[in-house]
Amino acid sequence: MLKINQIKLPLTADESDLRRAAGKALRLDENRIHSLRITKKAVDSRKKDNIFFVYNVEVDVDGDEQAVLKRCGSEVDIVKPLDFTEPELKRTSELRPVIVGFGPAGMFAGLVLARAGLKPLIIERGARIEERQNDVQNFWINRRLNPESNVQYGEGGAGTFSDGKLTTGIKDPLCRIVIDELASHGAPEEIRWSAKPHIGTDRLAQVVRNIREEILSLGGEIRFNCKMTDVIVANSYIHGIKLISDGHEEDFQTDTVLLCTGHSARDTVATLYEHGVKMMQKPFSVGARIEHPREFIDKAQYGSFAGHPALGAADYKLACHPEHGRGAYTFCMCPGGTVVNAASEEGGIVVNGMSEYGRDAENSNSALLVGIEPENFGSDHPLAGIELQRKIERAAFAAGGGDYTAPAQLVGDFLADRPSVKLGAVKPSCPTGVALGDIRKILPKKVTDTYAQALLKMDKMLCGFAMPEAVFTAPETRSSSPVRILRDEIYQSNIRGLYPCGEGAGYAGGIVSAAVDGMRCAYAVMADENDEW
Ligand SMILES: Cc1cc2nc3c(=O)[nH]c(=O)nc-3n(C[C@H](O)[C@H](O)[C@H](O)COP(=O)(O)OP(=O)(O)OC[C@H]3O[C@@H](n4cnc5c(N)ncnc54)[C@H](O)[C@@H]3O)c2cc1C
Repeated sequence: MLKINQIKLPLTADESDLRRAAGKALRLDENRIHSLRITKKAVDSRKKDNIFFVYNVEVDVDGDEQAVLKRCGSEVDIVKPLDFTEPELKRTSELRPVIVGFGPAGMFAGLVLARAGLKPLIIERGARIEERQNDVQNFWINRRLNPESNVQYGEGGAGTFSDGKLTTGIKDPLCRIVIDELASHGAPEEIRWSAKPHIGTDRLAQVVRNIREEILSLGGEIRFNCKMTDVIVANSYIHGIKLISDGHEEDFQTDTVLLCTGHSARDTVATLYEHGVKMMQKPFSVGARIEHPREFIDKAQYGSFAGHPALGAADYKLACHPEHGRGAYTFCMCPGGTVVNAASEEGGIVVNGMSEYGRDAENSNSALLVGIEPENFGSDHPLAGIELQRKIERAAFAAGGGDYTAPAQLVGDFLADRPSVKLGAVKPSCPTGVALGDIRKILPKKVTDTYAQALLKMDKMLCGFAMPEAVFTAPETRSSSPVRILRDEIYQSNIRGLYPCGEGAGYAGGIVSAAVDGMRCAYAVMADENDEW
């Protein structure tokens, strides 16, 4: 199999154009290409008057590949096999492994362990997807928060009400496997090759259901509305966990707990801390969502190509380092999406973003974030970062009027340092509504001081980013975990048999990296190594 990189074609090109271009790159009659598979498709929009697609493809050709390769340029190469072999199952324990949390980390750990025949017990404090969708709607419409079933908690985890972006900064061969699994469980096929794959919240629900069904069909068990309230530990080894479900308490005996609880399970982290599980502070970021009209962002990015059916809604990724300030960056951009109220604790507000597969909502939004280092947490306590998040979330709740209305401010007013009193052309999309005011009253000064400079710098990178009518909705405090639960090279914590995993334990940031970490921890369970801490 040969791969060809960097085939450039116009937006209107079809499969036959791609075959022709592949033949040209191989210096071969295109009829000698038996099969062609796109492995990557990206948009090159650096020149607004000449936007085109760039493809990487894999081809099977008629004849000697080496001979073909010899007469080609550096853009053609032999396909190397995936650098990964699944470890052998060495686990001998008769006890069933338990996975706590059914987000991306727990789902992928569950798939691996179920396929290995280990019949994992998976417990999830939130509801199954259908019920959870009702709980979230009830919160967004009637502002009745269910603290156990919401945007952060429930089947599919925190990313279920999201854009389902699958981009990741990690380089791990398992990323490929995660993408293929998502596609074979119902995600759009193009995630296999898109340079910036996304699923959309409307399609994610089905993917999550399909993964659930496969785990169940292999003998795994999933209990929803079931929370781990404690771990049972003796001589620094896990002996079981305590569960509560519908008011009914139970002890479940196990020697293996994969802790896939995400970064909102603050109560669970506090319980583990009480047990002496080693953890440390970790930097995280704080900011607000910024919303612009989608068509405006499309024009800024695609010029006269904006609205081209082959392109869809435009994204952006901006970063700068203002003088004497901290780094600021945009994060989790949701083209044609909405801002969501993602609260999980009563009396606190946190926002995030989500899109449907079509990305056709009126606005586009992203988080504008600034890093917060442990020295700014105000205490050396390992959980001080959580307290800082909570303080900001509570201040936002109060500023919004105490009914989950989210505080907001227009960018023009923010730059002029005056509270907002009236919306402009941009209609904020947060489903619980916004209360206009001054986000300086909610966010740490270091964040807002950085904003003041960063907005102007970013406006030069994306013309109009600092448009006066753009709307900030605050606060975004949970883009990553402020604590890391320590684990060793065999993925276990100082309490043996406890595998801290995924985003909440500080080993992932996003759907794909959390899923990869879930698989890695599950492989460690299969390998069954055991050393002294
Ligand atoms: C609105 C929103 C949009 C997002 N958009 C994107 C995006 O587009 N792309 C992207 O890559 N990432 C996105 N993210 C981030 C992404 O969702 C997370 O990085 C990812 O879900 C982390 O996976 P996880 O499995 O580690 O934890 P989580 O997904 O947080 O899952 C943890 C699960 O554990 C359960 N749990 C917690 N404590 C207990 C307990 N004691 N007992 C039983 N169950 C428990 C929770 O209910 C939860 O379901 C978004 C997040 C949000 C909130």
